[in-house]
Amino acid sequence: MSGISAARALAGLGALVTVVDGGDSDTHRTRAAELRALGIEVRLGDAVTLPEGTELVVTSPGWKPSSPLFQAAAEAGVDVVGDVEIAWRLRGPDAAPWLAITGTNGKTTTTQMLASILGAAGLRTAAVGNIGTPIIDVVLSRGDEGAEPYDVLAVELSSYQLHWAPSLRAHSAAVLNLAPDHLDWHGSMEAYAADKGRIFEGNTVACVYNVADRATEDLVREADVEEGCRAIGFTLGAPGPSQLGVVDGILVDRAFVADRYKNAQELAEVSDINPPAPHNIANALAAAALARAFGVEPAAVREGLRNFRPDAHRIAHVADVDGVTYIDDSKATNTHAAEASLAAYDPIVWIAGGLAKGATFDELVQRSAKRLRGAVLIGADRALIREALARHAPEVPVVDLDRTDTGAMSEAVREAARLARPGDTVLMAPACASMDMFTNYNKRGEAFAEAVHALAAESA
Ligand code: ADP
Repeated sequence: MSGISAARALAGLGALVTVVDGGDSDTHRTRAAELRALGIEVRLGDAVTLPEGTELVVTSPGWKPSSPLFQAAAEAGVDVVGDVEIAWRLRGPDAAPWLAITGTNGKTTTTQMLASILGAAGLRTAAVGNIGTPIIDVVLSRGDEGAEPYDVLAVELSSYQLHWAPSLRAHSAAVLNLAPDHLDWHGSMEAYAADKGRIFEGNTVACVYNVADRATEDLVREADVEEGCRAIGFTLGAPGPSQLGVVDGILVDRAFVADRYKNAQELAEVSDINPPAPHNIANALAAAALARAFGVEPAAVREGLRNFRPDAHRIAHVADVDGVTYIDDSKATNTHAAEASLAAYDPIVWIAGGLAKGATFDELVQRSAKRLRGAVLIGADRALIREALARHAPEVPVVDLDRTDTGAMSEAVREAARLARPGDTVLMAPACASMDMFTNYNKRGEAFAEAVHALAAESA
């Protein structure tokens, strides 16, 4: 989507665009025909050769930095950038400022919470970046008589997008957390963190970090920001000065207090947050910090959080069957995300497995072992989880399904139902990517929900 948006936008501005793609399937050919109709040259089946005369390469997340085409670009002295960089460069002089969000987990949720808060404040905004309409299209869109249609944008940025966006300068930005993920793409944890840290470069008002995650604070310290830009922490505990936190179930701001007779400002109640799980309260605090940095009043923070509903497959309640609760957290595609949802339930029958992307599971299993009633494993890299369970939770019964076909989810749900007792939660938080078995995490979540509904129908 972002590649096609970039090609169309640049061609529309008069650039001579060549699209290269290693694939050559029917889908590729259909898309190629659409692009060719716009005067764009398309080369399928060759993702290595740099077209002659290239002045700029615009890449998509699927391409690793080590791709041969980028080496060819480097040798030819040609810049490589991503869609976010193009969007940033194409912004007009009256463009809406960006409030940017990254982190290993919670990006989409926090970005949508932020957009909800900004909307509640009466600002014209959209949640964009790694979600929604491609960001180049948003930046080029115009309102009545060509006016800028937005007051401010809530921008989710992945580590890939940040890697290729050297001149991006946000109004304010937040890094929610940092845990190993996508290391196969970035090459190392240091390189991954450095790419995430780029989000703070040149910030003008606030750099928001997670007090419980030192690595995020280090990124603020290392960033080169504008004079007067403040470091703002968020914490699930009582906030210190220049922090937002929680006191007696109330979200409290000690960073942006306008009234000089007060040293803290109440924003909302924990019960205003949907769902009020610890990691989600952290997301709400980060969104609130960015909104407050943009001057949003406390009442709008509360209204925005109350209006917010999470996207599908993020700790979604599917059904209760025979006293057992079934939760779909298919979006838990890495160990850090799975740990957050495993921390929210007890006892749990855990459905896990898929593509590990270079991760290890020892810490996750160690921290969650006490809460596990049992585990059901599916997918390509399930042996890694089985071995971690054998090392750190040998007493937990494990069913290893030895299946990577789509139908495995229905068997997994049946096995989980067999292990569960009334009062337990069956949690599908795979800690892995889905592409070994499903097209994406949505399809994996749908397969789970379908299997649970089938089980419910039989039990009724
Ligand atoms: P992202 O856009 O970064 O992938 P999402 O908001 O889509 O994040 O949430 C993905 C999953 O990560 C959720 O289903 C949940 O399991 C977990 N999660 C969400 N927020 C956090 C957080 N702050 N810390 C740890 N895990 C989280």
